[in-house]
Amino acid sequence: MTHRAGIYCRISRDRIGAGLGIERQERDCRELADRLGWVTIDTYADNDLSAYSGKRRPRYERLLADIEAGYLTAVIAWHADRLHRSPVELERYIAVCDRVGVPTQTVRAGHLDLSTANGRMNARITGAVARHESEQKGERVRRQKQQAQAQGRWIGGRRPFGFAIDGVTLRPTVEQLQAMHDRAAALYGDTVPTVDQLGKLADRLTAEADAIADASRRILAGESVRSVVSEWNRAGLTTATGAPWDGSKARQMLLRPRNAGLTGNRGRVLGPAVWDPIVDRDSWEALVALLGDPSRRTHRGTSLKLVGSFLYRCECGEPVRSGGQREDGKPRYACAVGHLRRLAEPVDDLVFKVVERLLVRDNVELIAPAADLAPLRDRLATLRVRSEEIAALFGDPDSGMTGTQFRVANERLQREIRTTEAELGRRSASSALAGIADAPNPSLAFRSASIDRQRTVIDLLMTVTLTRIERGRRPGGSYFDPATVEIVPKKQGE
Ligand SMILES: [Zn+2]
Repeated sequence: MTHRAGIYCRISRDRIGAGLGIERQERDCRELADRLGWVTIDTYADNDLSAYSGKRRPRYERLLADIEAGYLTAVIAWHADRLHRSPVELERYIAVCDRVGVPTQTVRAGHLDLSTANGRMNARITGAVARHESEQKGERVRRQKQQAQAQGRWIGGRRPFGFAIDGVTLRPTVEQLQAMHDRAAALYGDTVPTVDQLGKLADRLTAEADAIADASRRILAGESVRSVVSEWNRAGLTTATGAPWDGSKARQMLLRPRNAGLTGNRGRVLGPAVWDPIVDRDSWEALVALLGDPSRRTHRGTSLKLVGSFLYRCECGEPVRSGGQREDGKPRYACAVGHLRRLAEPVDDLVFKVVERLLVRDNVELIAPAADLAPLRDRLATLRVRSEEIAALFGDPDSGMTGTQFRVANERLQREIRTTEAELGRRSASSALAGIADAPNPSLAFRSASIDRQRTVIDLLMTVTLTRIERGRRPGGSYFDPATVEIVPKKQGE
């Protein structure tokens, strides 16, 4: 059959530099049409210099209309990513082409098979990965900005517990505080505290940082958050805004990545910060594992059996949960409000495939190779031993070491320990992805990870939304319609 083909071309920023002007795309597409024996009857070209902006593409709309009208019986494009820029657009394209049975050929990737469930799944995975690449670029820029902000630039806002008002300085001296407050006075007209007040503030900030270190240690040793909280409240230690502590505030504060010298939020790591860690990284991670698991928090110890419970959402916005097994014994996800029930396995299968593709492709760059960290860890261990040796030396009356000598040596060592710890943090920008994305086989590492870990990774990389099956558009007899699972890769750190 000789097809009446429409050629679609799009120029956009996401491929600039790849030499993909409209003319080049069109020439390649025409050659492909000749090879296939198709007749090119129209060319549709959009100039779309901002990918994913959601801008309207008049020629693309025209293409879809011509497909629906039966004017075109086939589509040729340079690559599938020229045709659709987002999952939503892909679904629309699938719907239009599927209805009238129009095939799509691409110069770059051959036949874009949208007529089978498997083909559509592949198109979705490819689409999700392409979108993720484009967003990663934006993310990198944003992260650089954030880091610049963390580099001591005045950002205002509420002071984080344990840190001075610049959000960076730990255990500040009176002089450091004076400088910060002078700056605030110049910028915002704040009153500068007296030296006496600054002295008290310096003491308080030191006590706060010490409290974080102390509490982290004790909770890891088995003490409860509750007992730490009541001790703090008895001692008159308040939150940064002067409120008394409670369990959830304390837990939240103790899980801040900033305690380990990292930026990020809610136990999710963005990257290394410029400030020193209060708690070493291993301890902080152990604490996150102990206190931070969201499933444990909401369900008191019962571990979730389905990876997507309380993680995937229904189209109504409610999280889905395990929806019972029914007669066939297979687990299902169900909307809390009752909009939908969906077999869990095919949904998870699709999600896992996208996760694996993303892991293999992109995210290794977030994590330094583990081998690089060994020398730093060794260095840290050496410094700690030396610090103990110096203390022992000072304690030995025969050593002749004076108090001043000890203080100078010790301060230098402590400073070096802190920089090394910070450097270690910087290098091992861990996240739930460490040990998975950088594993020799990321797919295997992900599949064999605990369900909690998998949840964290999925949550880090994407949002998953289940939508209702449209009656009448259900592919012939197949039970699972992947079009009802919307996977949108996340900008990291939100
Ligand atoms: Zn719902």
